[in-house]
Amino acid sequence: MLIECLKRKSFPSPLLIEGRELSGILLDYKRFALCETQTACGDCRSCKQVLKAFHPDLLEAKGDLKMEELRSLLHRLRQKPLQSKARLLCLTEFQMASKQVQNALLKTLEEPLESWLIVLSTQSAGKALPTLRSRCLVFRMGSEESEAKAPLSELEAEIFELIQEERDWVLQQKIESCLKKREQSRSVFSRLLQKASEKNYPGHWLYLSEPLLEAIEQLDRNLNPKTCWEFAWTRSLQEAKKLRFSGRRLSL
Ligand SMILES: [Zn+2]
Repeated sequence: MLIECLKRKSFPSPLLIEGRELSGILLDYKRFALCETQTACGDCRSCKQVLKAFHPDLLEAKGDLKMEELRSLLHRLRQKPLQSKARLLCLTEFQMASKQVQNALLKTLEEPLESWLIVLSTQSAGKALPTLRSRCLVFRMGSEESEAKAPLSELEAEIFELIQEERDWVLQQKIESCLKKREQSRSVFSRLLQKASEKNYPGHWLYLSEPLLEAIEQLDRNLNPKTCWEFAWTRSLQEAKKLRFSGRRLSL
């Protein structure tokens, strides 16, 4: 799913990736985001530099970094990209980050710039401060084990059942009832995004992932959660109709 976003030149940020073996997906993110054409072409100067782990717009550290190091990275993150379209801050093993580091990062996330991307990777998203986690789009890679660690709330479980049964009208009501608060809406959208990317969902749900990503961005720009949701829902219906009409199928 994440790789599909990257291929469409859509770079979710701030992103918190949870899983065991994350070096592959992290490298993909860096390759797509920093490539001069954002296609991970493999030929441009940036692509070659990323593979050598040395790129002027790539800022990397492990989660257990010291405050001074973080400050210096954040300072550099705010500067204009030298070569690529954005500067990318990548903090790995984020489960080791101190509270102080997380709080400093949180402050930065509250005043985002368009020219930066932030990716955190962790073995356990649960170890990140809830306030920080709720600012990030959370992706859980692979293992059923990590899925099990983050059980669905009763309401979320109900929502996913309704999706399977294609009871759209009841579903709309249910989702709207979750969208009272921004933080909660963000978490519902992230969950839906994760689910929408699973292949076994029926009808226009297949086409919901991209509109949902946009909805999350709109939410971060302080738009009303219900408006964001209605926009995503309508767009997925339109996309589904358009693709059905042209006889194409979306490959996920
Ligand atoms: Zn390239």
